[in-house]
Amino acid sequence: MVARKQHRPAATLQCLLEPQSLYCQECDQLMWVAYATRRTVTTLNGVTRLTLKIGRCHDENCTRYHQPYRASRGRSMGITAWRGVSSM
Ligand SMILES: [Zn+2]
Repeated sequence: MVARKQHRPAATLQCLLEPQSLYCQECDQLMWVAYATRRTVTTLNGVTRLTLKIGRCHDENCTRYHQPYRASRGRSMGITAWRGVSSM
């Protein structure tokens, strides 16, 4: 890996990634957006500022209680390596 010698240019694109559904896949209850993480990625199209919203089920009786739901598009944009997201 080569260290960057110049500042990354300012983001020219914004991309908001939200969970596939606002409802829990297990209990069908409305989820809360627990938190959002941000990352800047450089692609062939330019510098993109990504905001990834993470939803969680808040029903204690649900098998997916407090497990994060992420946007499905994240994988195609290299977010699987996004530290801190996959460890939740
Ligand atoms: Zn649930």
